[in-house]
Amino acid sequence: MHSTDTKTLRDMDRTHVWHPFTQMKEWEKSDPCVIVRGEGSWLIDSDGNRYLDGVGSIWTNVHGHCKREINDAIKEQVDLLEHSTLLGLTNDKAAILARRLVEVAPPGLCKVFYSDNGSTAVEIGVKMAFQYWQHRRRPGKTKFISFRNAYHGDTIGAVSVGGIDLFHGVFRPLLFPTIQAPSPYCYRCECGASDSATCAMECLSELERLMAAHAGEVAGLVIEPLVQGAGGMIVQPEGFVRQVRELCDRYDILMIADEVAVGFGRTGAMFACGHEGVTPDIMALSKGITAGYLPLAATLSTQKVYDAFLGEYREMKTFFHGHTFTGNPIACATALASLDLFEKDRLLETLPSKTEYLQQRLHTLMELSHVGDVRQCGMIAGIELVRDKQTKEPFPWEERIGVQVCLEARRHGLFLRPLGNVIVIFPPLSISHDELRLLMDGIEVSIREITGD
Ligand SMILES: *Cc1c(COP(=O)(O)O)cnc(C)c1O
Repeated sequence: MHSTDTKTLRDMDRTHVWHPFTQMKEWEKSDPCVIVRGEGSWLIDSDGNRYLDGVGSIWTNVHGHCKREINDAIKEQVDLLEHSTLLGLTNDKAAILARRLVEVAPPGLCKVFYSDNGSTAVEIGVKMAFQYWQHRRRPGKTKFISFRNAYHGDTIGAVSVGGIDLFHGVFRPLLFPTIQAPSPYCYRCECGASDSATCAMECLSELERLMAAHAGEVAGLVIEPLVQGAGGMIVQPEGFVRQVRELCDRYDILMIADEVAVGFGRTGAMFACGHEGVTPDIMALSKGITAGYLPLAATLSTQKVYDAFLGEYREMKTFFHGHTFTGNPIACATALASLDLFEKDRLLETLPSKTEYLQQRLHTLMELSHVGDVRQCGMIAGIELVRDKQTKEPFPWEERIGVQVCLEARRHGLFLRPLGNVIVIFPPLSISHDELRLLMDGIEVSIREITGD
């Protein structure tokens, strides 16, 4: 093993690495923190500094970094089989994982189509829903209903069903049009309702109006159940997902649930749809699936969807889609080890006391004069900073208040990544009570220092 000093590492990065969602002109002038090690909830840089991973390595981490059981499973699998294709063959780990996913998924989802990131998991769902109606002899059903503020990934199909103009406006000419429904972002909702239940009802009645007008041409609806993630950790009121399911049934529209961010225990249940007793027709999974270790994704479907693709070879009903690393056995073995740990550590049972604590701390943060809104669902939270609490006037985006707070938090030993003016909390589910307290203390002082409270 050779190690390289921090300055050389930074130089190599600044010279050659093009970072995602990053203005590189600024990056080149910065001294990036080079992470070289992980340990539980902590990231360790090339100078030995430790940072509490407050965003779970971009919403993926479940059991902490370098978890022994997962490391062992990977080492064992590497010596058995590193990769073999699912085109014309299968592999043991892909088959076993498919069974395990179906066992934990909402009842009725029984088929697993693998890919390797969240965007493709959604895009596969969209293509599946589209082709489904072609085979069902309803060729007019080609459109999709998407939600305002939605985020489903960065490939062209996933961007098409997204609703965040800031990220995606530049690509508009490349996208297919969708029918956009309002989402209940109560804090900034334009519906004029005075409380979240009324706001959700307004959104649902508008959704129903759109469905009634377009049902004959709509193949599917894409939703992030319970929480819109990248949109700003926007939490839907109770019952919303269930009512969306009912509307999809009434208007014969396939429901595609994007559980890429909220899946695998994040909201307190294994899957967000589970909170509302909902089975979507198609469900996209990625981020937490390998506990933050390796790229893997799965698109689950019901028997009904799958059956529409069955036919004689010459009928051309095959689902023509696939990726080179589909069902990679190392990634699947990792996912299996993660599911084992959910059971062994009774992970879901450890969450309520932590989410209650998180809720208390968020509640106290509302006393700060620049905290306009706090939103939480399980181990996800968003703190929306505003210039004026009374009028809800946002901080101008050029001030990058979220970035400033997160940089300040770095000085307090935390790694955070905001969404605009929203401070995101998305730690490893395995975070300890003491670490969670450190995280919330650090966030509170950082907000106070930057907003001058
Ligand atoms: C992150 C995310 C995606 C995209 O996943 P990638 O692996 O980054 O392509 C899709 N949907 C949701 C809800 C996400 O949070």
